[in-house]
Amino acid sequence: MQVINSLLNTDKTLFSFELLPPLKGKSIDSIYNGIDPLMEFKPAFINVTYHREEFIYKKREKGFLEKISIKKRPGTVGICAAIKNRYDVEAVPHLICGGFNKEETENALIDLNFLGIDNVLALRGDPIKTETHFVPEDGGNKYAVDLVKQIVDLNNGIYMDENIENANPTNFSIGVAGYPEKHFESPNMQADIKRLKEKIDAGAHYVVTQLFYDNKKFFDFVTECRKAGIDVPIIPGMKPIESLRHISFLPKFFHIDLPSELTNELDKCKSNDDVKEVGIEWAIQQSKELKEFGVPCIHYYTMGKSSAVKNIASEVF
Ligand code: FAD
Repeated sequence: MQVINSLLNTDKTLFSFELLPPLKGKSIDSIYNGIDPLMEFKPAFINVTYHREEFIYKKREKGFLEKISIKKRPGTVGICAAIKNRYDVEAVPHLICGGFNKEETENALIDLNFLGIDNVLALRGDPIKTETHFVPEDGGNKYAVDLVKQIVDLNNGIYMDENIENANPTNFSIGVAGYPEKHFESPNMQADIKRLKEKIDAGAHYVVTQLFYDNKKFFDFVTECRKAGIDVPIIPGMKPIESLRHISFLPKFFHIDLPSELTNELDKCKSNDDVKEVGIEWAIQQSKELKEFGVPCIHYYTMGKSSAVKNIASEVF
């Protein structure tokens, strides 16, 4: 087992990526098919996202509506165990506050510890579609910082049940999210960085950023973080634009801007293939500049498709 904060202690820029569990009903082969082409670039770690249950309403007799909970992409922990077993690479499950009370979170962490999965990305999670704002579970963690504190407690052998004696301390390495264009709920960048600092002060070891397309925003973010006393590694997150739909979807979903130099090129594109070509070229140039800047790792969001990231990695790593 290698904890990520020790892996990041290097002069080299590492390569890593994130994938999504497949939709329910699909086999794990879709995961392996996404990972296999990227193994030649020796990923330092592979993240696996976590997806909460959603609620749908089904019409029943006499006009009654039945509320049904569905989880479209289960399997985060199982996939992480399978990745470690098959590729001998560190797998990082995302752990969220939403949908879990603290007892359930503790039990999930115990499962991970027993599986030898000692790296986690601690997140709050977004509001579910039927909520206007994030609502924590009864007895659950409200912000990512609270989740970080709970993981740190376990690392110190402090479990929720005070009667447990001589408890086994865990050894989790904890990553948290950072936002070069600020989190959409935060009133301003300084306030958001203050919240990020609270996560680091609580014991998080490194930051992985939201995707961005303008390196200047990342460089400014790093400068502001350092000024605020955040001295842990900051890993840029990148996602190549791959389709005409992405041009409006990515800004809307991730609350980020596309620079005009990029949109001017995208405006000339007539097809998804044209967009993919521009998106890959942009990501190659961005990655090269980030490497030059000396980032410890570049983390690519594959969203289940590895071909664009393979093209980028072959130019950059
Ligand atoms: P927090 O750090 O808790 O911050 C949330 C908001 O609350 C921010 O505006 C912050 O400024 C504010 N805040 C923080 N602490 C306080 C406080 N004490 N008082 C008042 N305000 C406060 N979502 C998923 O559901 N599954 C995933 O797998 C997933 N993976 C992700 C991976 C990365 C790298 C990133 C960047 C995001 C990911 N997300 C994922 C999305 C993430 O859950 C959302 O962006 C979510 O809205 C915020 O999560 P956070 O951990 O940054 O929250």
